[in-house]
Amino acid sequence: MTIELPNDPARADVLAARPTLWTNPLYRDDAIADASLPLDPSDVDAAAANWKRLAPLLETCFPELAAASGAIRSELIELKALRDGLGYGGPEFGRVFVKADNALPVAGSIKARGGVYEVFVYAEELAKREGLLKDGEDIRTLAGPDAKAFFSRYTIAVGSTGNLGLSVGIAARALGFKATVHMSSDAKAWKVERLRKLGVEVVQHEADYTTAVEKARDVAESDPTIYFVDDEQSRRLFLGYSAAASELAAQLAYADVTVDADHPLFLYLPCGIGGAPGGVAYGAKRIFGDNVHCFFVEPVQSPCALVHMMSGAQDLVSVYDVGLTNVTEADGMAVARMSAFVATVMRDMLAGVFTVDDASLFRWLLLAHEMQDIRLEPSATAGFAGPDFVVKHPQGRAFCKAQRIEGHLDRATHIVWTTGGSFVPQEQFEAFLKTAAENR
Ligand SMILES: *Cc1c(COP(=O)(O)O)cnc(C)c1O
Repeated sequence: MTIELPNDPARADVLAARPTLWTNPLYRDDAIADASLPLDPSDVDAAAANWKRLAPLLETCFPELAAASGAIRSELIELKALRDGLGYGGPEFGRVFVKADNALPVAGSIKARGGVYEVFVYAEELAKREGLLKDGEDIRTLAGPDAKAFFSRYTIAVGSTGNLGLSVGIAARALGFKATVHMSSDAKAWKVERLRKLGVEVVQHEADYTTAVEKARDVAESDPTIYFVDDEQSRRLFLGYSAAASELAAQLAYADVTVDADHPLFLYLPCGIGGAPGGVAYGAKRIFGDNVHCFFVEPVQSPCALVHMMSGAQDLVSVYDVGLTNVTEADGMAVARMSAFVATVMRDMLAGVFTVDDASLFRWLLLAHEMQDIRLEPSATAGFAGPDFVVKHPQGRAFCKAQRIEGHLDRATHIVWTTGGSFVPQEQFEAFLKTAAENR
């Protein structure tokens, strides 16, 4: 299939794989209230309540969560030295923060918010259905030996470029489930090894992510004891991510950040299939309404959300359909075709998408390490381009003008969501630094 993208200021750059910003012509106020969407804003509150109810069980399974009473939380870090290093020293950039999901406990990436959530919610549901957990009974029962024996009769399966597999595999094994992870050819060897050490069955496919997911779905459909975490369609994953927004709101309040019509908030969210950034964006819209503007960021060769949303097509458009390769070092974002579910939810809610090249990812990885001691994997750095695109790029300036916030940018807050990295082995991290130094 070859697709003709519509006329748009970003089109030529997209097709030539040059970094650019696309702003969404369908973006509108209060899009979250659209009753035809397959989700309700109150689902975000329900997800936060689920996390809270599961916290004692999470704390029992993962002792590293004790200090946070079983919550899986990351820090909000204001940029200091790194601000100048990135070229964001001027007052026109307002305040700039990193939301450090690179250091999320349990899985070392934003996938802890989705994968761990889905596995634990499923475990509770299964245990209730099969009479293992009675109403009102202590949720920590599910970490006991009887529960482990029970869960070991079931398998959790998932398709992944790496990090979702890690998160689901770790969560599943902690409860005693069997786990199978179908990995795409992009998956890094250390992620495969780490899972095998945990007793996870890893099936490596010589194919891209979309194919790995299809294979996993096929196997699961033939066997009722397999529960498939479907990254292309799962509401549970999406809502697990969405609960990050209330965590962020509390941290912003603590940092004395106001978010209102005169104080806009910008989120920059690295996008693969769209579930993690979509879930966070949906949660943020639930809390901050029209005063938050969410942008996805993708590699120049893998802008699947950009090309699909720009196309305006009903059927999913992939990056191959417009002649791009889906080749990138950013394994967490090496996805050729976005989730149809996320595309529907984000259609009128996403401010835009910008793209970045791999050389920039490595440059930011090195800067974040040297200037602010933040450990990132390449995918996780992509959001650092955000403030520049919004404040300086012609499409960004047009966006701010249309939103009537161009006079408020010195009072704005930019949040770069850094999505993974703390689990990267030292040897691999040093190889990243070396690549970055060579390209400096
Ligand atoms: C998975 C992942 C993303 C993107 O999340 P999707 O749900 O695939 O859109 C971004 N960065 C990192 C590090 C990831 O692991």
